[in-house]
Amino acid sequence: MADAAKPDLAHGHHVQGHAAHDHQGHDHGGARAGGVTLTRNQSLVLGILEKADAPVTAYGILDALRPEGIRAPLQVYRALDKLIELGVAHRLESINAFVSCQHDGCHDVAGTVFMLCEKCGHAEEMADAETSAHLGALALMARFKPARTTIEMRGLCAACAGT
Ligand SMILES: [Zn+2]
Ligand SMILES: [Zn+2]
Repeated sequence: MADAAKPDLAHGHHVQGHAAHDHQGHDHGGARAGGVTLTRNQSLVLGILEKADAPVTAYGILDALRPEGIRAPLQVYRALDKLIELGVAHRLESINAFVSCQHDGCHDVAGTVFMLCEKCGHAEEMADAETSAHLGALALMARFKPARTTIEMRGLCAACAGT
């Protein structure tokens, strides 16, 4: 009887297995991020990003929020700017799309590394202390004051690469 350690296959809601997804909230309406109360638009936008399995473009967000009465791209862009500033969302420049933070808010992490799968679109977020330290040292040498760093690697995720 191989009944032990039966995998829990009850996927009631469609949160797809992000490996290190330690968001504590399941209430998307709970409009708070790092102690800051979000506006309605901001929490709607964040809700879309959190539900998505892959990065979403601003127009994708706008489309998804039309039923909520959001019509103007500027409403989405303003909300995104704020969410990025709060460290609860990231902009992926190379694909011009947005993701919710897979960590507990990255506002004080200097180096966030995204691994973007070109096949399935998955974006895996990694934060590495050594990378952060290196980047910090480089900036210091150049007497550069970094506000935000996002590194994007493109290729194939483990599932798509078949490894
Ligand atoms: Zn993050
Ligand atoms: Zn993939």
